[in-house]
Amino acid sequence: MLVRGNVVVEGVAVGTIRFLNMDYEKHLQSYIAGGVGEETEKYEHALAMAKKDLETMLESGENLSESELEIMGAHQMLLEDVAFVEAITGYIQQAMTAPAAVLRAVSDFKAMFDEIDDPYLKERQNDVVDVGNRLIRKILGLEEFSVEGDQVILCARDLEPSVMAGLPEEKVKAVLLENGSKTSHTVIIARAKGFVTMVGVELTPQMAAQGETVLVDAVRGEVTLQPSLEQIQEFQERVRKQEQERTVLMERAQLPACTRDGKEVLVAANISSPEDMEKTSVYGCQGVGLYRTEFFFMESPELPSEEKQFEAYRSVAEQAKGALCVIRTLDIGGDKSCDCLKLAEEENPFLGFRAIRICLQNKEMFKTQLRAIMRAGAYGKVGIMLPMVTMLSEVTETRKLMEEAMEELRNAQLPFDENVPLGIMVETPASVVMAPVFARHVDFFSIGTNDLVQYTLAVDRGNQTVNYIYDYFDPVVIRSIFQVVTAAHEAGIWVGMCGEMAGDRLAMPFLTAVGMDELSMSASQAPAVKEQIRNLDSNRCDLEELLRFTDKEEVRAYLEKVGSNGQDTW
Ligand code: PEP
Ligand code: MG
Repeated sequence: MLVRGNVVVEGVAVGTIRFLNMDYEKHLQSYIAGGVGEETEKYEHALAMAKKDLETMLESGENLSESELEIMGAHQMLLEDVAFVEAITGYIQQAMTAPAAVLRAVSDFKAMFDEIDDPYLKERQNDVVDVGNRLIRKILGLEEFSVEGDQVILCARDLEPSVMAGLPEEKVKAVLLENGSKTSHTVIIARAKGFVTMVGVELTPQMAAQGETVLVDAVRGEVTLQPSLEQIQEFQERVRKQEQERTVLMERAQLPACTRDGKEVLVAANISSPEDMEKTSVYGCQGVGLYRTEFFFMESPELPSEEKQFEAYRSVAEQAKGALCVIRTLDIGGDKSCDCLKLAEEENPFLGFRAIRICLQNKEMFKTQLRAIMRAGAYGKVGIMLPMVTMLSEVTETRKLMEEAMEELRNAQLPFDENVPLGIMVETPASVVMAPVFARHVDFFSIGTNDLVQYTLAVDRGNQTVNYIYDYFDPVVIRSIFQVVTAAHEAGIWVGMCGEMAGDRLAMPFLTAVGMDELSMSASQAPAVKEQIRNLDSNRCDLEELLRFTDKEEVRAYLEKVGSNGQDTW
């Protein structure tokens, strides 16, 4: 039996399935209720264990990024929160079972946050659910994550970022999520950890029992249930090849990505924090093509100061050892809320007060970030990149603010780089159409396919129901990319890509043929992408032919054909 899903991190895996969070109902149905005293005791024991777990994770936090540490810190605070704890014990006093009391308190807190018109508090709902799940797992005696065996395929409706962050890389072979989009925080962590991952997988414990063997093909987007012995053996062989290939790829990760006909493409990393830099050099990334600075703002209750930002940007610039680090200015709004900005709720957040629009209406905040980036430029090579640009005035106004920021830094006698390049994300149809104009006013472009697809095809990037429309192989997106690259090169500026398409192996024949100068992706994808580029001839993909297609399936089929190099692959 086959279950389909959307591939987020490519790969194949064989393992035993473990459902997380999904089987609460079954456990709750068979839960044997004790008296008030016994339930209170179970709850208190669960609370103590949950606290201890978090403490241990935070103490041995060397593998956790700053954002992961902060999420766990927030959870610790919730477990100490008197109102939350008393709500649970109060319900137990009213003769509820311990798990039911936790569920009720979580639902009360969620409802309470929902009524408050504050995006930060709304966001905290996730923490409450996360912490509630943690407590319920403890009460039900479910291990935090029972890693039995070392070949685990983890399946969950959704996964809290803190749980994803704590999963052991050596034991988890794949992650299957029912919810979650390619760009959710949880998925970003999964990608950074290198887990083979799919989202939109509707797989329940009724379809495959806990511990059953399943096969994950996160190339075709398929999960095979109840496989035959022959299928298992065939998959084991694919997994073995994949591991062999990964070893070879890692050995070759530091080589440049040059096509057979000698075109070099710079392969850079997408990062969300200075801690992500450690992995980037191991995977052979040549600098940073996208530093998503908003996570820094999202996790902090107040605006991060210039010094705090400067330290983070400087750390990234220094770790890049002379390679360019493109630092994107705050890209808040849409699905990314931020408590420190107290933004009002909107009907259409993706089309509303977002990104550069927020920055240009909060000039002091924007200038603080610009100053911090320019100061980091004294310690390495940095670039400034503006998100969601639609109008030329957004660039010219930013340039003015950069001038003011430089003047302020001169007056304060602080070292900074006078020549920090300024680029834009090309991720709106407006910036595609006006690319020849923008190209004369900026130093570089980076194509953000995640949003470009959403805005071009008018399709919500996180909505599974319309996911069939969301596709960067759609001819309209292919043509847009072609236009943007042409405009950039005609104006003599470089053009990169930092959306998910940049790490997609199927896209490589097109991206190399069209002349992309830089591709930026999750660091773990870099070795495979670099190797694929090295095996390609950039003229194998005939752009004239590709641009004639009117159907995305034709585009895919063509790229499959010209991208295959006859090599055996998993
Ligand atoms: C994009 O839109 O392609 C992009 C890289 O930015 P983000 O995913 O952060 O919106
Ligand atoms: Mg974007």
